[in-house]
Amino acid sequence: MKKTNMGTKAIWAGEKDSLAFGATQVPVVHSVSFGYEDMDEWYEVAIGNKKGHIYGRNTNPTVEAFEEKIRILEKAEHATSFSTGMAAISNTLGTYLFPGDRVVSIKDTYGGTNKIFTEFLPKQNVEVCLCDTGDHEAIEAEVAKGCKVLYLETPTNPTVKITDIERMAKAGKAVGAIVIVDNTFATPINQNPLDLGADLVIHSATKFLGGHADALGGALVGAKELVEPVYHYREINGATLDPMAAYLLLRGMKTLSLRIERQNDNAMKVAEYLQTVDWVDDVFYPGLETHTHHDIAKEQMSGFGGMLSFSVKGGVDTVRHLLPKLQFANRAANLGAVETIVGPSRTTSHVECTPEERAAMGIPEGLIRYSAGIEDIEDLIGDLEQAFHALPKELYTNA
Ligand SMILES: *Cc1c(COP(=O)(O)O)cnc(C)c1O
Repeated sequence: MKKTNMGTKAIWAGEKDSLAFGATQVPVVHSVSFGYEDMDEWYEVAIGNKKGHIYGRNTNPTVEAFEEKIRILEKAEHATSFSTGMAAISNTLGTYLFPGDRVVSIKDTYGGTNKIFTEFLPKQNVEVCLCDTGDHEAIEAEVAKGCKVLYLETPTNPTVKITDIERMAKAGKAVGAIVIVDNTFATPINQNPLDLGADLVIHSATKFLGGHADALGGALVGAKELVEPVYHYREINGATLDPMAAYLLLRGMKTLSLRIERQNDNAMKVAEYLQTVDWVDDVFYPGLETHTHHDIAKEQMSGFGGMLSFSVKGGVDTVRHLLPKLQFANRAANLGAVETIVGPSRTTSHVECTPEERAAMGIPEGLIRYSAGIEDIEDLIGDLEQAFHALPKELYTNA
């Protein structure tokens, strides 16, 4: 799938209505409320007949510019935003799932999302069915039994499994389900789930959209009819995006296209390099021909993303030695930043899960998640080379 003009859109889209004072950059409007001299105008804005802002928990000009930019990048009719990615997910599911409803999803969703499915929704008598990720027949069979929501994430965290969005959206539509896709890993530069038939797209803006690991945020885009009820749920429940965070995310998004191009490239080259390393057992990256669903990824993505993972001989012990030796990588529970970030899944994406739960998801305890930054590729590969070279040999022999 070929994309055009995404770089231009990332820079210019969505900002015009929020500019003020002739400034060329969207101002950070910290005002909690917005005043009106004219009581009738106030009323018209309050009931939504006239554009404007009333109170910061509902809307804000800086936040609105962020929403507009992600709306245009995902080619959606409507958008709303949240304080975090998890707020986007929990508010969306909270809007649409009630006692007695059924939701179908996959086992490999983000750790926090998985907790909503396994801990919170069952307590509210929502029936949750989690299928093996990438087992399209199993998902179709469960969806065919009927469900209110089909919730997908592709590529997944941390083993970058791929689900065929178009095929799953068709299955969801056939039973009248709302099809939701967490597009955090791909970003709108690499994948537009709405074009493939999804109804709603969720982002943790904290990751690639912001890209600088300095602001939390979430977004939801789709048809107005579906996004507005979630906006209403959020404005009442209060998981509002802060204007300062919205500004940082907006600024980050200006370079989204540039960053993603570089991260796609760096991740591919790191994955190819890792395949040649004796210490490495498995490399998971949708861009590799060895990936189970490389063909689907090639079809629905215009780039394979900045995320990969790999498992090492010697398991946790090797991880313990390897990661501290890297010079150009943060060891942190985050991803999608300009800096390369590494971490074991057991302390990052799936820290909420027990070792047994992780094993059931096919996540070895010695798996390393690698979020490629925008550094020079020679330095990233050189860094990995020196780290592998310095590993104690007995770890290898004992493996
Ligand atoms: C990080 C992440 C989330 C949660 O986002 P927060 O902004 O941390 O709340 C959801 N989905 C995916 C795929 C993520 O990587």
